[in-house]
Parts: sequence; structure tokens; C-alpha cells
Amino acid sequence: MISFEEALKIVLENTQYLPHESVKLEDSAGRVLASDIYADRDMPPFDKSAVDGYALKREELGNPLRVVENIAAGYVPKNEVISGTCSKIMTGAVIPAGADFVVMVEDTIEVNGFMDLKEKEEEFKKRNNICYKGEDISEGDLLLSRGTVISPAATAILATTGLSVVYVSKVPVVGILSTGDEIVEPDVTPLPSQIRNSNGWQLRVQSLSTGSKVKYYGIVKDDPKLLGQALLKSTEECDITIITGGVSAGDFDYVPQIITECGFKILFDKVSVQPGKPSTFAVKKAYPYEYPEDHLVGLIEEKKNLIIEGNIYGNIDNNALQQKQNRRTSTVSKVIFALPGNPVSSLIQFEMLVKPYIIKSMGGNYLPLRLSLPAAEDFTRKNTERLSLIPVEINPDGTFSALRYNGSAHIAAMVHADAIAEIPVGVKQILAGEKATIHIFR
Ligand code: AMP
Ligand code: MG
Repeated sequence: MISFEEALKIVLENTQYLPHESVKLEDSAGRVLASDIYADRDMPPFDKSAVDGYALKREELGNPLRVVENIAAGYVPKNEVISGTCSKIMTGAVIPAGADFVVMVEDTIEVNGFMDLKEKEEEFKKRNNICYKGEDISEGDLLLSRGTVISPAATAILATTGLSVVYVSKVPVVGILSTGDEIVEPDVTPLPSQIRNSNGWQLRVQSLSTGSKVKYYGIVKDDPKLLGQALLKSTEECDITIITGGVSAGDFDYVPQIITECGFKILFDKVSVQPGKPSTFAVKKAYPYEYPEDHLVGLIEEKKNLIIEGNIYGNIDNNALQQKQNRRTSTVSKVIFALPGNPVSSLIQFEMLVKPYIIKSMGGNYLPLRLSLPAAEDFTRKNTERLSLIPVEINPDGTFSALRYNGSAHIAAMVHADAIAEIPVGVKQILAGEKATIHIFR
């Protein structure tokens, strides 16, 4: 049995190469950037007013000043501010020449075309209310690196940089299969001996959260022939197959055997973690790897200077091509994650193993956010042979509390969990105030 860290290492060493494509900005949320993004201009692009107010010379603050202009955002000031004058100015408007200070409109009164302060206080002098050209971003700055998952803030940067089309990694197609003679879909009334399929639906939502395309193959009976057919279909049609159930030591747990029969190599089938011990990872490799067409397109987009007209491959520096291929390709063509059937196991193992795999295949980096937090109460467990991952809530004071949790079938506990706490191998008890590693799923 390998440790969870070893399992994660093996998973991340066997990521796929997913080719790149251009997508519209509006379709890019959650995708992984395939190119670096540099600033095409300074931000702000001009000295601008941070407030609605009056632009003036700082040394004249406190004198009544004649208002010569009203500058709206988006327009170029017509007048220079000279001694004895000021210009009314709106937030985001260009600071007129001659002005080095903006007083907030709330602190002023304007009578007969003259602006004066409401109160002559030194307080006003503390902030000049000007955002200077380039103070946030300078032209040419690296704003986003390839591999960045496009968040709302990253979307703002892409828009600010003038990109209505974004070069990103393609998303994997994830096939999801549930197994078990006892499992029925939510729209079926279960017999007393049956259980509703929660994993398939949970994994579908988890996969969608990574941006992946999902193909849902439903429930497969614990029958080697049917399992083989379903696995072959899914692994043919999808980059990644996630199958739940049938991976333990039961008499009807055929999944590992079928995985091998489908031509996959199992890289691990037992992990020293609770829940999730029978988690299994298998790969199929392709030799020689066929570089997808648009891998070269991507390369060419970046190496425009290497292209001769009429022969797009002809003038590419072979070393550069080789380096690119080394960096960007993989011999892994298909993978299977076979996760235990208990819903908490499959939920946690997806977040801890599968999601990092998917994001890395797209050229990004993802692990749950890790924090070291003190326990609010003592926590004791019986078995200490495996790394335990238990659902917890994070309290407002920064401590964590274990939730009522009966084990890996108790999916209701996860609804209230903010995070998962790690209890290392060999540790029986965490006392109140002692720190533990907390994983927050993002
Ligand atoms: P298995 O891994 O097949 O031995 O299943 C372990 C436990 O998880 C059993 O109690 C199953 O009934 C349950 N289980 C398996 N698959 C699912 C599923 N798709 N949804 C909910 N529970 C499941
Ligand atoms: Mg089963």
C-alpha cells in the first residue's frame, strides 16, 4: 500500500497532454491559459482622478478658485489649471495640465463659479486623490502566466488587455460510470435492498467544476462482461474515465480485473488513506505519441517569426520544436480513476487526486488550499494505520471542529463541511489547540 503523497505524485507524473485552442473571452471562465499575457498599455493609461471633485494646484488649496471647466470621464481636458483656477472633475477623468491635487466634491461648496472648501482643515491635504499613469500596471508587465486558471479577476485582466479571444488548453472529456447491482437512479423508486446513485451525479458536478466535458454512462451491473463493454466504450470516447464502486475485495468487485483486460496498466490500487483506500489509477500509453494537429498550430502561433509562407512546418527551428514537444506532450493517452463506492470516499478522492490531475493535464496547477489550523476540541480516532481525512467546519476564530461523521457512507456530513482535516498516520489524538493540516476544496 502506498502513501497518499506517493499516489498523488504518480497521478501528477502521468498527466495527459491536452492540445490548445482559441475561445471567446465569454467562454473562457475556468479554462487554463495556454499563453502568457503581457500588458499592452499602462494602467491607468493616464493620470486620473480617483474621486468626483475639483482639480487644482495643491498650494492653492483653501483659496477660492474660479471653476474653468467640468471634465467628464472619457474626455480630454481643454484648459490648463493656472493660478486662481480649478476644474471640476469626475472620477476616472484625465487630470488637467497644471493640477496636482483633487479635492473631493463633498468637502467643497461652489458659489457663483468659485469653489471654496467647506472647512479649512489640514485633513484634506493628506490624499491628493490622483491615480498616476502606470501605477498599477506598466506596459509590457507579465500579467498572467500560462497555466493560470481563468478566475473572475483574471477575466478582468484579459478584458483590460484587449483580448476578446483567449488561447487556452482544451478541456478533457470525462466519462463517469457507477457500478453496483444495488444502485438505482434518482428517478427510480428503490427496493428495500437498493441504494440511490449519488456518486455519478456528484462526480458529474465535480468534473464540470473543472471545466471538463462530461459523458455520463449511468449504472453498470456487477457483471464482468457488462463492465468490460462499458469501460471500453468510455475509455474509447473519453480522455479520463471515473468509475465508482467494485474496486474493493468483495466477491463481485470486478473492476480492477476488467481495467487490466481493457489494456490499462494499474499504477496503484491501494492508498493508505481513509476514506479512499481502494482508490485505483490506471493508464494506457500510446507509442509513438501522435502530436495533435493543433499542437503545431499553437506552436506556430507563438513562433510566427519562424514560418515561411506556404510551408508552415518548413522553417521551424527543430530544437525549438523538440523542446516544445518535450515540455508539452505526454505518452499517456487515456486514464481510469476507479474510486470506492462510498460517496464520501469518491467525493474526497476526486478533490484530492482527480481534480489536480485534470487541471495539470490542462497545463495548470491545482491542489486544495492547505492551512495549518488549531483544533477547537479534542479529537480521538481508533485506527491510526492510515492518513485520515475527516470533514470539519472552520470556526470564526480560525479553529476547526470535527463534524458528526459516521464514516465514508455518511455523505450528509459533507454538506456541512468547510474543509477536510488531515490526521497523519500514527496519530491517535489531536488535542484542543493542536494544529492540523486543513484542505479547503476550491
Ligand atoms: P463498493 O465500492 O462497490 O463496494 O461500494 C461500497 C458502498 O458504496 C456500498 O455500500 C455501495 O452500496 C455504496 N455505493 C456504491 N456505488 C454507489 C453510488 N453510485 N452511489 C451511492 N452509493 C454507492
Ligand atoms: Mg459495489
